[in-house]
Amino acid sequence: MAIVVKRKPLTFLEKLYIPEIVRGLTVTFRRMFFGETVTLEYPEQRPPIPAGYRGVPTLVRDPEGREKCVSCQLCEFVCPPKAIRITPGEIPEDSDYAHVEKAPKEFDIDMLRCIYCGMCQEVCPEEAIWLQNQYSMSGYTRAEMVNNKAKLYELGGTLPDDHFKWNKKKEAAKNGGGHGHAMPPADMPRSENPEVPPVFPK
Ligand code: SF4
Ligand code: SF4
Repeated sequence: MAIVVKRKPLTFLEKLYIPEIVRGLTVTFRRMFFGETVTLEYPEQRPPIPAGYRGVPTLVRDPEGREKCVSCQLCEFVCPPKAIRITPGEIPEDSDYAHVEKAPKEFDIDMLRCIYCGMCQEVCPEEAIWLQNQYSMSGYTRAEMVNNKAKLYELGGTLPDDHFKWNKKKEAAKNGGGHGHAMPPADMPRSENPEVPPVFPK
């Protein structure tokens, strides 16, 4: 059964409107001259961004200025709205960046598609893509809203790298090792060799 809600009738003063306007302006003037300012003059003034905020996705370099992205395309695969487009490129062996085989030739993120979900950051094995504190993106055309590789690195900058994974791998490779550790001696028994997977009886 429908319930009829009775409306409170307006008083004579409320019907006049003027007292309510004066009451509203009193609050405004009190705030203007005596109260604490609660608004910001954006964009000159910016709000503080909390730690861990997930803004626009960006690409970052390691403290040695090297690209961290190895162009594995996991982020492109996992991105729900298909906002990422990567063209992988090979790194020549004589390059300063030859600690890895690949780096992106092109890397585009369409910010008209991106939903700021952070899955690209979660899935990246190199900690190369980060959603940082940039929250404002605008443009006059669709093309302007696609962040290319140069723009992504400009936004991302450099982040600390606690692991230096590729340095360790390069060092290990120099010493004849493979995956970040030195190769075991050739005369080591097979059962004690961590490089050899155990053989289970059939
Ligand atoms: S934040 Fe989400 S939607 Fe945006 S590029 Fe990363 S995975 Fe795609
Ligand atoms: S940003 Fe990370 S996940 Fe995406 S291609 Fe580069 S290394 Fe792979």
